[in-house]
Amino acid sequence: MTTIATSQKLNCEQVSKAYGDVQAVKNLSLRISAGEIVSLLGPSGCGKTTLLRLIAGFEEPDGGTVRIDDNLIASASQNTAIEKRNVGMVFQDGALFPHLTVEQNVKYGLSKTDTAKLRVKEVLQLVGLTDLTRRMPHQLSGGQQQRIALARALAPNPNILLLDEPFSNLDPGLRGQIRQDTLNILKANSVTALFVTHDQEEALLMGDRIAVMHEGGI
Ligand code: ADP
Ligand code: MG
Repeated sequence: MTTIATSQKLNCEQVSKAYGDVQAVKNLSLRISAGEIVSLLGPSGCGKTTLLRLIAGFEEPDGGTVRIDDNLIASASQNTAIEKRNVGMVFQDGALFPHLTVEQNVKYGLSKTDTAKLRVKEVLQLVGLTDLTRRMPHQLSGGQQQRIALARALAPNPNILLLDEPFSNLDPGLRGQIRQDTLNILKANSVTALFVTHDQEEALLMGDRIAVMHEGGI
């Protein structure tokens, strides 16, 4: 089995982003080493999702810089295209494409090569769901949907994986198991990850370090 590509480090320096009068992220600095998982813990509205969107490229910062392995990917004047950043993202609700099968969902971000099918098989093995390739998302449990979302995010070998409260919609019984499984997968593959949560216990379980966010800063 091929493993995830060499993980790279993330470096956010003095990053700011406002939406009109709302200063969502304010002079925020954060570094993540290769292979490290940092939990980003903070209350609703403190700017966690905005920070992830700045790193992924869905938003552009007003100031500051974001670097992946010393390469500048975002600043007020220069922003690398989303698809060139090689950043993976897992959302709160999984956000699978409802009209595509499990296999098509996982294959979505891969170039159409002969190896794509093999890679889909590999990452489904990684999350323990090889039997479900032909299912539609609505035929999966919430926990299975989140596993597929994780598989989809890992498929293109991202440099950095961003997880935005990925388990908060799951019922407590399921949450414990999928947390642990996800942690095992990330660690076994040395994935560099920023894991967002508003749950202190979850932050402690998942993170090598915890960054506490408050009103747009760390
Ligand atoms: P969190 O993920 O920590 O709950 P967000 O990053 O979603 O926080 O939001 C931070 C602040 O920015 C909040 O006050 C929110 O209402 C505001 N905000 C987020 N996105 C937008 C947007 N697209 N337009 C205007 N305000 C926004
Ligand atoms: Mg959020």
